[in-house]
Amino acid sequence: MFNKLALIGIGLIGSSIARATKLKGLAKTIAISTRKAATLEEARELGLGDTYTLDAAEAVKDADLVIICAPVGAYAEVMKQIGPALMPGAIVSDVGSVKVHVIKVMQPHIPAGVHLIPGHPIAGTEHSGPKAGFAELFEGRWCVLTPDAAVDRIAVDRLISFWGALGSKVEVMDAAHHDLTLAITSHVPHLIAYNIVGTVDDLEAATQSEVIKFSASGFRDFTRIAASDPVMWRDIFLTNRDAVLEMLGRFLEDLSQLQRAVRVGDGAAMEALFTRTREIRRSIITAGQETAAADFGRPHGTAETGAPVPAPLDTPEVGIREHGGGEDA
Ligand code: NAP
Repeated sequence: MFNKLALIGIGLIGSSIARATKLKGLAKTIAISTRKAATLEEARELGLGDTYTLDAAEAVKDADLVIICAPVGAYAEVMKQIGPALMPGAIVSDVGSVKVHVIKVMQPHIPAGVHLIPGHPIAGTEHSGPKAGFAELFEGRWCVLTPDAAVDRIAVDRLISFWGALGSKVEVMDAAHHDLTLAITSHVPHLIAYNIVGTVDDLEAATQSEVIKFSASGFRDFTRIAASDPVMWRDIFLTNRDAVLEMLGRFLEDLSQLQRAVRVGDGAAMEALFTRTREIRRSIITAGQETAAADFGRPHGTAETGAPVPAPLDTPEVGIREHGGGEDA
């Protein structure tokens, strides 16, 4: 599909793209670049690519597909380095969890004849680094692309085919709409998780140990989300501020109503809401984005790496291949 794929950043998402691209033979060569020498060495030991360099400009030389897989806060620095080295006709994409901001940062560095097609695979886990990735991460998951209307349609179709070959379902969307949608489906839930786990951390030490000892599934699920990468999530809230504040405002209004229902003992209102929300959960399972299996069919990390071990495809109770506990940022 491509002659040379350059991956800038080789953590969970970058290394999963590398593994899936190799497995499916989607690029003749894969060039890997990252910031730290130790991470580059790890990628080399794992055999994720064909060439390895700390020089991002060197990695993108002659690449017909470049995907930035670094935290959003690193984009400005990365684009400054790679902009002058991009090959005419190349597709430049990314996997960042916010889109309006990254377009603003990337666009000024895109030379004429290079196609900027931002992307966001809605797939992930709470683990980080090159060891955390796995080739099946994108299978059955959505990947959203947010190209400007003026971008070459053939280039967009090539990238749609690439993500399709990685196993994703692809949707092309307006960047602002993407940011608003993800604010409520991903960003605000993470903020709530970080907040509730932080609240427990602020409790008296004695109470805290009780909470940990008797933690029920509700709190446990929050802690899983709140274990997601601090740098990545810092960058998301710094760069998708308006959409997050809009959705957080709505959430707080609804929470006030629920608080009132609890205070006045309005059981009917609570039951009506909980019945409605249960239906949403069921429709997510029906849409194949989650499974109803015990523990939702999630694979558990190995002791050595913490990386998820994918459930076998044919596990009947799992139904669909499910990964990692999904901090699908
Ligand atoms: P990760 O596992 O922490 O990997 C990040 C990678 O970026 C590391 O290889 C890191 O390498 C590298 N990096 C950091 N700063 C860099 C710089 N200035 N130049 C070059 N490389 C740099 O993170 P991830 O989960 O793969 O996330 C990467 C991107 O995917 C983020 O933009 C995130 O928003 C998006 N995303 C994440 C998820 C998810 O659930 N995790 C889902 C969808 C999209 P060093 O060790 O060398 O610093």
